[in-house]
Amino acid sequence: MEYRLARDSVVREYRRGRLSKLDVCDAQPELLRVARNLGWVTESACPICEVAKLVHVSFAFGPRLPAGGRPLTSRAELASMARSRDEVDFYVIEVCVECGWNHLLRRFDARVARRRPKPFRR
Ligand SMILES: [Zn+2]
Repeated sequence: MEYRLARDSVVREYRRGRLSKLDVCDAQPELLRVARNLGWVTESACPICEVAKLVHVSFAFGPRLPAGGRPLTSRAELASMARSRDEVDFYVIEVCVECGWNHLLRRFDARVARRRPKPFRR
């Protein structure tokens, strides 16, 4: 997946000192709030602070949804939205609530979600 490659290259640039923590740990307060409340905690440590466990958050984007996307509370909610709306896109974002690291992991449309509703899995 190209997002994974982009993510890994950002982490590499940070480790080489070409990007600062301010550059890569720029999560907006709203994203951090959603990650704390609705995020699915993974077993992977944050690549930047290497302390906190990463959290995955899923958002739905599309007509009649908020411009910043609607955060999804569960896999069931994603599945039901994918069933009822063809025009929705889903984004899964990796977030560290400690240092503010965040990066897009995956993007898929409703058709893909109907086939494989696993937004919180790698
Ligand atoms: Zn972190």
